[in-house]
Amino acid sequence: MRASDSGSYGRAEGEGPAVGGRIDLKSLDREGVRRFVVDECGGTEGQGLRVYKAIWQDGVRSIDEIRSVARGVRERLAQRARVSFLEPELVLRSADGTVKFIWKLEDGHRIESVLIPDGQRVTLCMSSQVGCAMACTFCLTGDLGLLRHLEMSEIANQPLQVGRQLPQGMRITNLVLMGMGEPLHNLEQLVPALRVCLDDCALNFSHRRVTVSTVGLVPKMAELAAALPVNLAVSLNATTNAHRREIMPVTRKYSLQMLLDACRQFPLPSGKRITFEYVMFAGENDAIEDADRLLGLLAGIPAKVNLIPYNENPDRESLRRPSDAVVKDFQTHLVQAGTSCSIRTTRGLDISAACGQLGKARELAGDQMWLADARRVAGFGSG
Ligand code: SAH
Repeated sequence: MRASDSGSYGRAEGEGPAVGGRIDLKSLDREGVRRFVVDECGGTEGQGLRVYKAIWQDGVRSIDEIRSVARGVRERLAQRARVSFLEPELVLRSADGTVKFIWKLEDGHRIESVLIPDGQRVTLCMSSQVGCAMACTFCLTGDLGLLRHLEMSEIANQPLQVGRQLPQGMRITNLVLMGMGEPLHNLEQLVPALRVCLDDCALNFSHRRVTVSTVGLVPKMAELAAALPVNLAVSLNATTNAHRREIMPVTRKYSLQMLLDACRQFPLPSGKRITFEYVMFAGENDAIEDADRLLGLLAGIPAKVNLIPYNENPDRESLRRPSDAVVKDFQTHLVQAGTSCSIRTTRGLDISAACGQLGKARELAGDQMWLADARRVAGFGSG
């Protein structure tokens, strides 16, 4: 399967995966769709925009359903183009309301998205790659290695398709790129996908409610900021360069100091802050001295800290989750020093949907679940 090979973020006509010679309209940005409809199908500019809206706002499943353009244009479009979808293989619902979607891609690979309802806030945690190349020692997705990057269509189809399956009155309010993969390693496809998420003629999310989380691919951070105004989260997880090198190999390339310098230089709109995720491991990085070092590292950066008590995995016996009291004390220490700090509630543990567990569900869910009707398992209507 082709990885990112387009030099530009705005995909142009003729690019993107073609099946049977037909181009996936979801591999084109707004301008690309417009040009395709005008240049290749003899349509008008207005029809181009209507096609784009039909794809991303009405969620049409085939060209034939695009009734808002004249038949001749539609027929020419159907000969030359197609509309891709992710195939839902399994949907698992946790006792706490978290829902994990496992999608089968056209080449047979699987990715996951996790829906996390929390009162008025409904967050979708999205994947950006099949597997991940970053090899953080504590993360199960890292065990897969990088199988491939996702296409822009495969990224943007996640919020589109989950959004259309929600019960009436419920909608996704927030998007976080915290699923499988390192989003900044796939910036080529991430940027056009996020443009679709933010575009008011497409999925229309506010940039204030979209967060990209990274291990700290330093040069890509500035590139992201230059392309889009979304929120940045950085997975810090250690307070010394030595410890971070041990658990996050990316630190060998970009040291803790280089990462924090990049954060200091990150062009933040006023009022915005960088979120620092900090996975807490018992006896490794959960002492008050670590909290003090963390405060030192973050000095001068508009920051908020999100503590993530480590989700234990059978494959990582030496790593343990600290007690709630230890996590709370760490938080109190930061807050008393004037740094805002929240604790991430663990969600979806029973369906392996929690942080660091994506990619392992196939083994855990058991064969029978795989045969079940995905939507029935989720308890959602057809969508
Ligand atoms: N690659 C990006 C996006 C994934 S976000 C990044 O690392 O930021 C996934 C988050 O879950 C990261 O903050 C990661 O540090 C954290 N994580 C990974 N494994 C975990 C585990 N077992 N328990 C708790 N958090 C974990």
